[in-house]
Amino acid sequence: MRIGAHLREDTDPLTTATDLDIDVFQMFVTDPQSWRKPVPRPDAEAIRDSEIDVVVHSSYQINVASLNNRLRMPSRKAVEQQAAAAAELGAFGLVVHGGHLRDGEDAAEGFANWRKLFDRQVDKGGFGVPILIENTAGGDHAMARTLEAIDRLWESVGDFEQAGFCLDTCHAWAGGEDLVGLVERVRAITGRIDLVHLNNSRDEFDSGRDRHANLADGHIDPEVLVAVAAAADAPVILETPAEGVPGDLDYLRSAL
Ligand SMILES: [Zn+2]
Repeated sequence: MRIGAHLREDTDPLTTATDLDIDVFQMFVTDPQSWRKPVPRPDAEAIRDSEIDVVVHSSYQINVASLNNRLRMPSRKAVEQQAAAAAELGAFGLVVHGGHLRDGEDAAEGFANWRKLFDRQVDKGGFGVPILIENTAGGDHAMARTLEAIDRLWESVGDFEQAGFCLDTCHAWAGGEDLVGLVERVRAITGRIDLVHLNNSRDEFDSGRDRHANLADGHIDPEVLVAVAAAADAPVILETPAEGVPGDLDYLRSAL
């Protein structure tokens, strides 16, 4: 099983990954709070040629489901650009949050917008890398908070080869989904789990809050987290507080 972490400092992720002795790392390709187009990295070739796998997390404001053109259009463009930058690094995917609508909007239109994201890209030969749709923790109008929503989402995007799934344990817990047996329930819907974000939660079950904790340090039983990692049969990325990542890695390696 390939285990690693999200690396927040992005100047030399390969050296950080080597120091942590991880098999896979996650990084951004642009400022995660901005719409800025990614710029070519001097270490792209080294990352691409490395034995260490890489996955890219997209910037946070992206919401491809949005019914607001002024948010959805730049979101689509950003996904295309960041997927191209991810391909330059040899990444195996681009993680994109499921997104959400606003009060009173029709969820069916949000799911249709997800479909259009993939549909519109077919003529261009698809995205540079698979798009790994991540479940999210909060909100009443989220596209990928509950299994029910993920089921509807997959009715829209499930026939696209490039639509993958990233399961975040903190988000599932805070979103109100029981983690015991969750891998099987997700896979029954999506047919695939491409990546696990293995995080504990600083908040209660179904809190709707998205605050990650180190593995042994939150409200989720750490053994349940280990069971998710073992069942998922996918690369595991920690998005836990950086100072606790070496301890999380030790814990996970010895438990698996
Ligand atoms: Zn995550």
